[in-house]
Amino acid sequence: MSLLKGKTAIITGASRGIGKAIAVKYAQEGCDVAFTDLFEDDNMKATEQELIAYGVKAKGYASDASNFEDTDRVVSEIVKEFGRIDVLVNNAGITKDTLLMRMTEDQWDAVINVNLKSVFNFTKAAQRTMLKQRSGSIVNLSSVVGVSGNAGQANYAASKAGIIGFTKSVARELGSRGVRSNAIAPGFIITEMTGKIPEDARKAWEASIPLKRGGTPEEVAGVATFLASDLSSYVSGQVITVCGAMNT
Ligand code: NAD
Repeated sequence: MSLLKGKTAIITGASRGIGKAIAVKYAQEGCDVAFTDLFEDDNMKATEQELIAYGVKAKGYASDASNFEDTDRVVSEIVKEFGRIDVLVNNAGITKDTLLMRMTEDQWDAVINVNLKSVFNFTKAAQRTMLKQRSGSIVNLSSVVGVSGNAGQANYAASKAGIIGFTKSVARELGSRGVRSNAIAPGFIITEMTGKIPEDARKAWEASIPLKRGGTPEEVAGVATFLASDLSSYVSGQVITVCGAMNT
């Protein structure tokens, strides 16, 4: 299939997990992919090779998405190398879960900076190119807990709720210039991030999901592909939940 042929995407935090699954699906659909992650390590090199094998242009860039100057630098490098930005996927994210009574200022700041400030950093740097092109699709990874809240995740839930407000504001601000902005709110997706959750807590989560299982990164990537493609040309300012009916 070639739903994304002729398009170029930037995906943050894509050396593994959901970001990598999105990068692979985009490459399968004919999209050139520039992706970032914190380090130029074996994961990054392996992802780069996997994408190139689909016959597209692909390159991994080491950058800290929470850092404003670093983001501006890497987006300029990508535009120089790839020529355009049709799709921006703000995927990089971390958790530092703990109850509010134990949460330190550092745990709060780290999660807000990596999860929320990064979305501002990359959108701000990429909008110049999208506005010039008069087209673009921004896809932000929020979470069901950004809508519902979650005990032990006040920092994470706040960052993911902030992403929803940002996504809707950008959709209103840039819509007249042909730029769309949407969020995906995944539920319980099986990745290294959720691998940290203890076995009994994981089983309890799964039992509470009507589809009776966690989702896969590929199932999130399917929705991210729809939002990047022209199939969603009239969809903007929305939050699409991918949660096996956990949050209805
Ligand atoms: P993951 O931990 O497997 O992957 C996250 C990637 O982001 C890693 O490669 C990591 O190195 C990278 N990263 C972290 N900090 C970074 C930074 N400052 N700059 C650049 N890259 C950075 O996580 P995942 O499960 O694949 O999650 C991806 C996104 O989806 C996150 O935003 C997460 O909050 C969101 N999400 C995940 C789930 C889930 O159940 N797994 C549910 C809802 C939302």
